[in-house]
Amino acid sequence: QTAAQHVNTLLASYPDFPLPGILFRDLNPVFADAVAFRAIIDELAEKHRGQFDAVAGIEARGFLLAAGIGYAAQCAVLAVRKGGKLPGTVLTEEYDLEYGSARLELEVGQLPAGSRVLIVDDVLATGGTVAATARLVERAGYVTVGVGVVLELADLDGRSRVGAVPVHTIVAV
Ligand code: 5GP
Repeated sequence: QTAAQHVNTLLASYPDFPLPGILFRDLNPVFADAVAFRAIIDELAEKHRGQFDAVAGIEARGFLLAAGIGYAAQCAVLAVRKGGKLPGTVLTEEYDLEYGSARLELEVGQLPAGSRVLIVDDVLATGGTVAATARLVERAGYVTVGVGVVLELADLDGRSRVGAVPVHTIVAV
């Protein structure tokens, strides 16, 4: 089975979570299936093979993906965290979510200037989260070379907010 077939089989959807009118997509059943998890990691790592020096995972499910990809590709791993959790000198970006607003942060000085970064997350919705992460990567002195997500909510057109960086999604709904 392809990674996409695994995701289509295992993806769960919850109407009105966490707010009325939101159809929440739950990818935890994909992470919880050993074969499916490996398939999504392999596809995301393979898509940009040789093109990135680091993978940046967005809290929280992006961490799971970034760890796997970092291991598979033997590259550096960056944790892009929600506001207020990182010590030292941090860069901050505020942005609007599909529901509510949020803040993401990245520690400075973890990689050489110009390092090529692959950004990963579980779901691309409005694109605000990935766009904010790309701004953090750029402000830290690195270059975003690609975005990898497991699921894209195509109606929300998150791609248009990400800009010129190639976005690879395993499944679009
Ligand atoms: P965006 O900023 O693209 O609107 O939202 C993407 C962020 O919100 C991602 O970090 C993603 O984890 C989370 N998110 C938005 N909608 C969903 C959803 O339906 N399911 C899951 N699992 N996460 C979502």
